[in-house]
Amino acid sequence: MDGLTPAEVRAPGQWQIGTVTSIKPETPRVKSFRIALPMWMEHLPGQHYEVRLTAPDGYRAQRSYSIASSPLDAGGIELTIDRLEDGEVSPYFHDVVMEGDEVEVRGPFTSYFVWRGERPVLLVGGGSGVVPLMSMLRHRRLTMPDLPMRLLYSVRHPDDVIYADELGDDAVLTFTREAPDGWAGHVGHVDLDLVAQVAASLMPGTAFVCGSDGFVEAATKLLLGAGFMEREIRTERFGATGQA
Ligand SMILES: Cc1cc2nc3c(=O)[nH]c(=O)nc-3n(C[C@H](O)[C@H](O)[C@H](O)COP(=O)(O)OP(=O)(O)OC[C@H]3O[C@@H](n4cnc5c(N)ncnc54)[C@H](O)[C@@H]3O)c2cc1C
Repeated sequence: MDGLTPAEVRAPGQWQIGTVTSIKPETPRVKSFRIALPMWMEHLPGQHYEVRLTAPDGYRAQRSYSIASSPLDAGGIELTIDRLEDGEVSPYFHDVVMEGDEVEVRGPFTSYFVWRGERPVLLVGGGSGVVPLMSMLRHRRLTMPDLPMRLLYSVRHPDDVIYADELGDDAVLTFTREAPDGWAGHVGHVDLDLVAQVAASLMPGTAFVCGSDGFVEAATKLLLGAGFMEREIRTERFGATGQA
């Protein structure tokens, strides 16, 4: 490390070994992992980390996971991982990783899909696409609770709601397959009426959209239809097609 300044030593490109300090089941197929980092550095809400698994024979698998926590939550990060049945990395986290285990990560990454305090803000998430949006919501609640920001969140079933205990008046949900008993809110995919209704007090403003490829495509078209400027719509795709 001779010759490197502390800032370079802490550069995001460095792999580091984090320790899983807590695991919280969010839904039957989603868990949040709190990871303490020896080289923790402040992130911007919306950024992600890379996670790398190495098998005993040297085979490696690497995936990206958004940061769910606020940058004020110092010393570590929270990652929220959806378990894909036929996946490589996400089932490992769900079925193998336990509190106290070490995991290899590096980050934070991305400079485009980040919230730097712009206002007003509409967040549109499908399924686990809510993760980076939650970092924005949490950070806004801690730093600028009066800043206009609302989350429009599309989930399939009642038990698919991630961060259910943290969603308040600033979140509007739609259930695409099955709504909870007595649900009086929106059902079905996000549509123009719903976007226009949730965005009414937030325009002109910035929109952040995150989810599967299909969800991001559809939601972006609706935001344009509702009057958002193209340059004010930032998107993050988690991969795979289909909608929440
Ligand atoms: C910038 C970025 C941030 C991300 N943040 C998160 C996050 O916060 N939480 C999270 O759970 N995931 C997130 N992802 C997705 C994550 O990186 C992995 O793609 C996902 O966990 C699947 O990895 P796997 O090894 O389990 O499955 P793989 O072995 O990669 O894939 C198994 C099967 O699942 C399909 N598949 C792959 N990715 C997805 C997907 N995203 N949705 C549905 N099917 C898929 C594949 O086509 C394949 O058939 C993010 C992706 C990106 C690019």
